[in-house]
Amino acid sequence: MDNRISEAVDFALTTGLIKYNTEFKLTHAPFCLSPFSINDGLNRFLSGSTPVFNELMVKVGADRDFIRQHLEPVAATDGFIRRLLAIYSETELSHHLQLSRNDFLISADHETGKLYPRQVEFNTISNSFLFLTQRMYGLHRHMSAFVPCGGRLAENNTLDEAVAAMAEVVKYYDTPKACVLMVVQDREQNLFDQRGVEYALWEEFKIPTLRLTLEQVAEKGTLKEGHLVVDDKIAALVYFRAGYTPNDYQSELSWEGRTLIEKSSAVKCPSIGMQLAGAKKIQQILAKPGHLERYLSTDQADSLKSTFVGMYDLNENVDGETASDLAKAAPHKYVLKPQREGGGNNLYDQEMVTEINKMTEEQQKAYVLMERIFTPGESSVLVVDRVAEETETVSEVGRYGACFHDGESFRFNKDIGYLVRTKSSDQNEGGVCAGYACLNSLCVG
Ligand code: ADP
Ligand code: MG
Repeated sequence: MDNRISEAVDFALTTGLIKYNTEFKLTHAPFCLSPFSINDGLNRFLSGSTPVFNELMVKVGADRDFIRQHLEPVAATDGFIRRLLAIYSETELSHHLQLSRNDFLISADHETGKLYPRQVEFNTISNSFLFLTQRMYGLHRHMSAFVPCGGRLAENNTLDEAVAAMAEVVKYYDTPKACVLMVVQDREQNLFDQRGVEYALWEEFKIPTLRLTLEQVAEKGTLKEGHLVVDDKIAALVYFRAGYTPNDYQSELSWEGRTLIEKSSAVKCPSIGMQLAGAKKIQQILAKPGHLERYLSTDQADSLKSTFVGMYDLNENVDGETASDLAKAAPHKYVLKPQREGGGNNLYDQEMVTEINKMTEEQQKAYVLMERIFTPGESSVLVVDRVAEETETVSEVGRYGACFHDGESFRFNKDIGYLVRTKSSDQNEGGVCAGYACLNSLCVG
């Protein structure tokens, strides 16, 4: 192994840049050896857009009529969305914390080469890599003599910032015996990313964290004067690192756990309204003319819109043709998305066409057809399971935001750092833990 690679792997293992693989054996998180270059203007635009996107999504999540109007047709065939909507209808809207991540691909104009950020999706629930991405930055900083970037390695303190935001929320809730309740999956490959948050909450702020599955919340939790009480601790903040997929609700007990949380006065991260606002169907609707202006100033709306690509209902008429016909005629130009999070759910190419052909009109309503974003490739060294490979890659840039709304106004709303995922150009999906992509940092030039 090249010395640089073994040094980098040692550094990763020593500093906790680690995960379980699919067999639950420890390994370093896959990473890219050299940072991804981005120009200063683009980087500023992306970080500057974070609070605006957050404000938009908080307002959308609180707009019950809008959420119902656009998700009820989805709920007709999507039982998961149906249940979330039912809980949403019975939930009072109050304070909530948003630890968001807005993902972008950067496309280039064919003729001029000018770069344009294009939004992939705004993630509102269970955003991973707050810990690992800060460690990734640490690796590149440590190795900077060996993996020079042509500009400045962009500092990335996502973990510190997110944990400080969580601590502020716990302080706001102002109760003795306060804890953070982290809702988790039973077996979690990305465990250390979550433990990083837990340990920092304790080390920096002496805030304990309880890790519970939704079922355990139902078994152990009770409501006392509105507080969610578990093991004689009060959950000031419920931080969802699970609950975003139907797999997390295998039994009625898990839905009881979710309902108990939503009925409690704990601050949720995110609220169920925000979770629903993060649905791909909502993203599609917001990209249509006239919607953003209901929530934002014209300037703000125009700025966000500049990052949108076409998103359609499958039965929608697009310049005289239905979107599904467009997709069938040129499958490589589109991605078909169901209302799911967590990677690996989208459909591409021939598989997409086959599925469209099988769907009833009702089923079609639960999907969104999105124009494919094409990104210029570049050569990078990817390191996966200690093996390095130089290959053509594309990178996706996520901006993390922390935003706390107390039910009346924003107490804070800011950009708190980034995630870069670099993957081989021939991969469609982008998930690190799903095994598609490698962590990376930003080099701003
Ligand atoms: P999920 O909720 O499963 O993460 P995403 O919408 O983020 O779903 O899609 C998963 C991945 O697929 C993205 O991280 C990105 O790499 C790729 N992808 C999604 N939409 C597009 C698109 N319009 N063009 C190109 N790639 C896309
Ligand atoms: Mg995603």
